[in-house]
Amino acid sequence: MVANRGEIALRIIRAIQELGHTSVAIYETPDSAALHIRVADEAVWIGNGPRKDYLSIETIIKAAKSHGVDAIHPGYGFLAENPDFPKACEEAGIIFIGPPYEVIRDLGDKVMARKIMADAGIPMVPGTDNLPVGEEGVKVALEFSAKYKYPIMLKATAGGGGRGIRLIENDGQLREQLPLARSEAKAAFNNDNVYIEKVVIKPKHVEVQIMADKFGTTVHLGTRDCSIQRRNQKLVEIAPSMIEDTDLLDRICETAVQAAKAANYFNAGTVEFLVDRDYNFYFMEINTRIQVEHTVTEMITGIDLVRTQIKLALGMKLSFTQDDVKLRGHAIEMRINAEDPQNNFMPEGGKTVSVYRSPGGYGVRLDGFVYQGFTIPEVYDSLLVKLTVFGFSWNETVDRLRRCLRNYNITGPKTTIPFYLNIVDDPDFQKGDFDTSYLDTHPHLFEYKVDSSEVSKLAKLIAEIHYKKENPYAI
Ligand code: ADP
Ligand code: ADP
Ligand code: MG
Repeated sequence: MVANRGEIALRIIRAIQELGHTSVAIYETPDSAALHIRVADEAVWIGNGPRKDYLSIETIIKAAKSHGVDAIHPGYGFLAENPDFPKACEEAGIIFIGPPYEVIRDLGDKVMARKIMADAGIPMVPGTDNLPVGEEGVKVALEFSAKYKYPIMLKATAGGGGRGIRLIENDGQLREQLPLARSEAKAAFNNDNVYIEKVVIKPKHVEVQIMADKFGTTVHLGTRDCSIQRRNQKLVEIAPSMIEDTDLLDRICETAVQAAKAANYFNAGTVEFLVDRDYNFYFMEINTRIQVEHTVTEMITGIDLVRTQIKLALGMKLSFTQDDVKLRGHAIEMRINAEDPQNNFMPEGGKTVSVYRSPGGYGVRLDGFVYQGFTIPEVYDSLLVKLTVFGFSWNETVDRLRRCLRNYNITGPKTTIPFYLNIVDDPDFQKGDFDTSYLDTHPHLFEYKVDSSEVSKLAKLIAEIHYKKENPYAI
């Protein structure tokens, strides 16, 4: 059973089917027309939602039992990092495809994760423990910032998805933001703990995919760079990192394996690091699940991560060694969202996709779930499709990406495609030169010229509508 929706549900259903197992989808009412239901072998309606049934452990376990489910894959988001979910699966005699309860619990707590890593000698930026409540917390925070200087990062201990992180630049802001951060953390993550980290200025976000079996073997599958972010959320991800110092990248990967071992890690996971401008690297967190951007790693390693996740959860040994993992070429993934980049990335949910024509060809991979005639539910996130391209050289990969973005025709909702077209034409992106400040330092990416290719696309669309009137059965 796949306890998720959207593109990741489809991704996992495909792996289940390729392994010869029966796949079971779940869905809430707003997802009644969703593709994952149609592709899965069986589907269970779990309620009207929205979101609450996808988040209900009790409902999902009940649905799983009613369909004789052997194993559950949580995907990402929803219940994927809720330690109670693997616990409930275990109690129900169902295999959870992911790490055990204790690992998710400990690593989901950023302060606890930092403690485990500090004990294992993993490098990290200075930070505090959970801040005490009230004036005592302000005192600890002020002492920290006096020692390490502003700016500092105020983070929700149970945070995730780029939420619950605030940049603080002076004492006044600190006093003002601390209680707000705490109450927001409570509301968003049901945990009001916050702590402080020293800020790494203009870092690169470099992360390492790891895979561990139950027999003590842990391997890494190279690096990804996810520096291109908006509000601490990833938009574009590449593999491998463009850092030229391959010895440094090897050290980061080895450190990631060490970190995973320190946490008694099992199954697929991602160890995230920040790399500063002097090429020092610091542990940030471990994500205990398959990630959105896993596709770029699959493209450059040839290893099917979800297939491997399932086989490991069923108790098999890793079938490849570290030496078998060979990185080849470059891959770039762009998250195409139904959002209006010219209007502060306002979600475009509720709109119907009237034309959907996707690019294809060598080195192109699409992980999406929309089709022509599909109305995007307003109540879920706005990711429509992940466009992942592979190329032998970085230049070839960027050229392929530009071609695909130009060929893509999604009409109905506005999408982030025009914004990505600006990115592929940006000289710094073309050089592979970016860090987490990229969008702030490249404001021209948000400006659109009226592009003649847009005009010609419109002309083609009008001709197409005319043609369809004359030829009603044409596709
Ligand atoms: P989440 O759990 O939401 O993914 P992370 O701790 O992984 O949170 O941080 C998300 C992003 O926030 C990072 O990729 C980075 O851009 C920024 N960030 C987090 N901590 C720091 C820090 N100490 N210094 C600089 N940037 C940071
Ligand atoms: P299979 O189900 O085909 O036996 P495995 O369980 O052996 O696959 O491996 C899972 C994933 O790892 C697959 O995507 C496979 O292509 C990849 N893989 C398996 N063996 C190797 C190897 N020696 N080198 C690189 N990749 C491998
Ligand atoms: Mg993170």
